[in-house]
Amino acid sequence: MDYDIAIIGGGPAGYSAAIYAAKCNLKVALIEQERLGGTCLNKGCIPTKALLHTSFIYHQQHSATNKGIKSTITYDDQQAYRYKDQLVDQLVDGIQHLINAHKISFYNDHATFNDKHTLLLKQSQQTITSDNIIIATGASSFGLPFIASDIKFIYNSDDVLKNPLTQTDITIIGGGVIGCELATYYHQLGRRVTIIEIAERLLPEVDKELSQNLQMNFKRSKIEILTNAKLLNVAEENDGLSYSYQLNERSYTKFTQAIILATGRKPNIEGLNLNSLDLKLDKGHIKVNEHYQTNLDHIFAIGDVNGKIQLAHVATAQAEDCIRYITNQPMIHQAKTIPYCIYTTPEIAYAGLNESQAKQANIDYQISKYLLNSNGRYLIETDQRGFIKVIFSNKVIIGAQLYMEHASEYIGFFTMAIDNKLNVEQIANSIYPHPTISEALKEVTANINNQALHILTFKR
Ligand SMILES: Cc1cc2nc3c(=O)[nH]c(=O)nc-3n(C[C@H](O)[C@H](O)[C@H](O)COP(=O)(O)OP(=O)(O)OC[C@H]3O[C@@H](n4cnc5c(N)ncnc54)[C@H](O)[C@@H]3O)c2cc1C
Repeated sequence: MDYDIAIIGGGPAGYSAAIYAAKCNLKVALIEQERLGGTCLNKGCIPTKALLHTSFIYHQQHSATNKGIKSTITYDDQQAYRYKDQLVDQLVDGIQHLINAHKISFYNDHATFNDKHTLLLKQSQQTITSDNIIIATGASSFGLPFIASDIKFIYNSDDVLKNPLTQTDITIIGGGVIGCELATYYHQLGRRVTIIEIAERLLPEVDKELSQNLQMNFKRSKIEILTNAKLLNVAEENDGLSYSYQLNERSYTKFTQAIILATGRKPNIEGLNLNSLDLKLDKGHIKVNEHYQTNLDHIFAIGDVNGKIQLAHVATAQAEDCIRYITNQPMIHQAKTIPYCIYTTPEIAYAGLNESQAKQANIDYQISKYLLNSNGRYLIETDQRGFIKVIFSNKVIIGAQLYMEHASEYIGFFTMAIDNKLNVEQIANSIYPHPTISEALKEVTANINNQALHILTFKR
């Protein structure tokens, strides 16, 4: 065999697996048809957060007159996209450097299975053989079956991250994570935004209080939110689109200049010739066991393509565990708490159990909630409402929900606390610097013992 391990796909799952495998002294091939970094670096996490950062600054400055900042500022979207592209290039170059430094054989090509141990690289028509093969081909946006693909002014996340939208009236179909982040971006630029969501609320998977707070904030910001609304059809007009949707058994028609479809992502399995291997699928994803192993012992599937949880840090964790399994080391990330982050303004982040899950699981729990309006640093830096809600059982932390600026930075602390079963005293008895947002960590935990200095009552 040419390699110990060949990996198809150079996103967070694939490149992490390649680097980890090289660190475990395996001979590794990595095949990527586009650019290293996959969706995350090129069309997902990094571009969205870079653009959100630019629109946040723009929006903040508009409302900063009470802080003594007065100016006429403009948003140059071409420059913002150049800034985003430069960041992406820098990060992709960094990954390429790591791949080279670990002496991983990198093929910039499309891979397809010739047989169970052989991959054909389409462009070079080269074949490579490997003892183990990891499929890490990710997922792609999918449209809605009743919308023709050639209609103008309809975009997906790939399109809008590649080139700026010039339209001032934008309708987003889908109020999930990607839909809400894009709504935040365009709203902060001053565009008129409508969200159509088929479920009864935005972010239907998320703790109700978090999603209700976001929904209220969006409404206050004049983002139009239509929940329980089902898109029925879309027709092209001269300078935009008319679309109809059903709400409470009535149908309505509206006009918009652009539609962004944020309706979900499907696994990339076409073009791999999986049929010839008899590889088992589960609802269109590659079916794997707890070791990310398919029904063929030496073929594994990690990241978005196995349909477990479509997040970059989950892809990376699966990559490390998969390589550890292949190299006979115990897996380290299984059963660990997964942090979830949504980069709206303010951000949302959560980990572990929320109240309704604790209730459903019949757990005897206590809740502590801390509003950030008594935190000095938070007040200095933002005018956004914010809170931290923590769920304890026997004074041990079992879940946290954050609705606040920088929530995504703080959730890592709670993930670590949940995994290590930290109790109230272990967190609250430490000294936290002042003035910082981290003081909230002490407040929200000390509150369980009724010892939080800045909270009046402890709610049970
Ligand atoms: C708009 C958007 C924003 C997101 N924001 C976040 C976020 O903030 N945080 C977060 O955790 N997650 C986020 N995600 C999700 C995250 O990007 C994915 O979970 C992550 O990229 C999955 O990694 P992966 O390696 O499994 O797949 P991918 O990153 O999709 O990589 C798969 C790679 O495989 C390559 N490939 C496919 N088929 C072949 C083939 N036959 N031969 C060779 N190469 C092939 C593809 O070109 C691609 O580069 C976001 C996604 C989107 C779309």
